[in-house]
Amino acid sequence: METKEPHILLIEDEPDVRESYISMLDMLGYNADTAENGMEGLQKVMSNNYDIVITDLNMPVMNGLETLMRIKKKAPQIEVIVMTGYATIDNAISAMKQGAFDYITKPVSIEHVKIVLSKCHQQIEAHRENKKLRDLNTRLSELNELKDKFITITTHEIRTPLAVLKGYYELIDLQIDRKADPELDEYMEIMSGTIQEMIEMLDSMHDLSNFDKAIREYKNSEFDVNKILESVYKEFKVLFDQRNISFYLSPENESAIVNADPALLKRAIRELTQNALKFTDKEGTVTLHLKKIPLKNKVFLMVEDTGIGIPAHKIDLIFEPFYEVQDVMYHSSSKTGFMGGGIGVGLSLVREILNTCAGEIAVESSPGKGSTFTIILPLS
Ligand code: ADP
Repeated sequence: METKEPHILLIEDEPDVRESYISMLDMLGYNADTAENGMEGLQKVMSNNYDIVITDLNMPVMNGLETLMRIKKKAPQIEVIVMTGYATIDNAISAMKQGAFDYITKPVSIEHVKIVLSKCHQQIEAHRENKKLRDLNTRLSELNELKDKFITITTHEIRTPLAVLKGYYELIDLQIDRKADPELDEYMEIMSGTIQEMIEMLDSMHDLSNFDKAIREYKNSEFDVNKILESVYKEFKVLFDQRNISFYLSPENESAIVNADPALLKRAIRELTQNALKFTDKEGTVTLHLKKIPLKNKVFLMVEDTGIGIPAHKIDLIFEPFYEVQDVMYHSSSKTGFMGGGIGVGLSLVREILNTCAGEIAVESSPGKGSTFTIILPLS
């Protein structure tokens, strides 16, 4: 923690005593301004940024207790240390009740002053760090809100012109004979693919900005996760076949009951399976495994691929929204083709989903060899 010398004001009416305290503070490595009485002290507090005020309690014009109360009213962040003789220790106790940081008894011991000032300095630094963290936190929340707003507005604003584009495309498609001109047919096919891709991209962005709501409305129930794996397997089998990738399901023979939202969990497994499909080249293998660990009361759902893998130092980053390891400029246009497009939100959604059912996710990956994403859920 980087510390800053505290800015100190010493209020003491006796000139000799004041001088001796200044020398003592100097010896301890502190510089201090001085004031001859409470009134002057208050004026200085109003025009300077002091961190600590050390004040005598027994003074003419305005006594130390009154000075303390006025300082605390005007500048509550200033720490006030009061000095008093043993005979008037009750005053010190009253001062503590009015918000003094601590008291020093007269005649002062240099060791005591050193300890009190050092404690006070530490407290000021701790407050300063806390304030910095609070400010940073507020700023981050504001930025996060701004990001969500940006996504919502962008998604909405792009959807309208895209709908117009799609409408005219469909109109042209109805009016021309595509089969008569193979070149034209190909152009139309590309246009339709691109429009569809943009719609899917907007859907993903919309998903991300609306996901909080879906997450808040999740409904957990007990079900067998084997069923979800089977259903995702059936959905994706044809896509893996098209890409010439071997796709296997290795279920558990017994049931594995978990307590989660079935639709959200299916979404999470779909995202992982879709990534395995995108990041595995033809002739590769992707397997969905299910493993029950009754001793630990857990079930592991694994999506294992022999794809491109992920460098170790990027593994934590892939769960951040919009993060993609590969250069987005080299995306293929298909969502299911090798290195296919996406906007880097799938894994952040998976992580959010797992928060709703006490689930965790682990990744093992080796570049060029493949990756295994494991969802770990408590068994019911
Ligand atoms: P998207 O797939 O839409 O890009 P994700 O959040 O699902 O977004 O994934 C983020 C990034 O993590 C991907 O762009 C990719 O770089 C990397 N990644 C995810 N799954 C795999 C995988 N099975 N193999 C290799 N890289 C992966």
